[in-house]
Amino acid sequence: MTKEINPFELAQKQFDHVADMLDLPEDVRAYLRWPRKEFHVRVPLRMDNGELKIFNGYRVQHNNALGPNKGGLRFFAGETVDTVRALATWMTWKCAVANIPLGGGKGGVDVDPASLSTPEKERLIRGYVRLLWKNMGPRQDVPAPDMGTNAQMMCWFMDEYSNQVGQYVPGVVTGKPVGAGGSLGRNQATGFGIVVCIRETLKRLGMNGKGMTAAIQGFGNVAQSTAINFINMLGGIVKCVSCWDRADKASYTFYKKEGIDPNFLLSITDQYGTIDKVKAKEAGYEVLDGDSWLSMDVDILIPAALEGQIRADNVEKISKQVKILAEAANGPTMTEADEVIKKRKIFLIPDFLCNSGGVTCSYFEGVQNDANFYWSEAEVLSKLDEKMTAAYSSVYEMAQQKKVYMRDAAYMVAIQRVVDAMKLRGWV
Ligand code: GLU
Repeated sequence: MTKEINPFELAQKQFDHVADMLDLPEDVRAYLRWPRKEFHVRVPLRMDNGELKIFNGYRVQHNNALGPNKGGLRFFAGETVDTVRALATWMTWKCAVANIPLGGGKGGVDVDPASLSTPEKERLIRGYVRLLWKNMGPRQDVPAPDMGTNAQMMCWFMDEYSNQVGQYVPGVVTGKPVGAGGSLGRNQATGFGIVVCIRETLKRLGMNGKGMTAAIQGFGNVAQSTAINFINMLGGIVKCVSCWDRADKASYTFYKKEGIDPNFLLSITDQYGTIDKVKAKEAGYEVLDGDSWLSMDVDILIPAALEGQIRADNVEKISKQVKILAEAANGPTMTEADEVIKKRKIFLIPDFLCNSGGVTCSYFEGVQNDANFYWSEAEVLSKLDEKMTAAYSSVYEMAQQKKVYMRDAAYMVAIQRVVDAMKLRGWV
């Protein structure tokens, strides 16, 4: 994300816009425009070579009217508190729109995960927990994997937290490995949910997924599981994915006319989502520049990487063929670009609805941890399908009823649910 883009300004702008539409009272706005609690920590880390380094870390708890704060923990070079604030705010709306009894939170550490060895990562996670554990817990705040973190790191988080409190507490974190309190299906849940949203959209537009084409930005966990499910569940064709190349410090788009094979690309991708260009070319892929995904002639565009990717300066590049924009990433579209999408009548599946499958499955994981009783993958995915379909319907119906843009409709549903809970609890 470029320096001029402040995701928290974007999150507040989006909120203000719908707060005006809802005529929300000033005191309620004041409550919701900012997080309720923020923690800034400096995490010391003994490096493998004996050196001591200090990393800036954050945990932001935006709102917990509906239940404990919930949201990922990122390891990201250049992480800022404003990005974490934005992501925590979007988590509040995400959990509300998904209709799960959780609030919004997010954490981040300003570190490039690829610069750390595995033992260094473990020590950094444990150090973060030691500074924050009193403010975390299944009834307080429950992190999950996000950019730069994974299931193994969540497991260390759970272990360190359990050490601190002196008892086994699997529900303090979700996205754990299966076999250490994790849920089957969690790995692919976000992509699965995105494809459910696309399926529901196609239904309403009177279209069929078979042969539909998509361009995906990114090739991390969300992009991978979206590509696989788009092909398997809908019979669609993914024309390209893109990735950040660590060595070149540049991004590339990997294109194949007849459609990419996500499982093959996965086999030549490292743990940070960088695809091997040489092997891809040998297998017949064209390697194009990093922005090419945005101007592809496809039916569906799926940004599944960072915030602020579709902006005033590149939105016009979107092909006339594009009918649906499925926001798999959090905050991929800036306000000015949003206006263009709206005018061009591209059907928008807004981020915190589109990618809510991850946190919904995290909720299922917490439920299984509480009950100490674990479900089959088929059971998880069928419950997830049901929840995502219901969330989609509530937003779509709001959009139809009030004749508003899908993003505004999602905000309306979410804000209403949070405000109702705040009123019932006597907060406003
Ligand atoms: N990090 C994911 C998100 O942005 C998942 C959050 C969670 O499972 O708590 O939605």
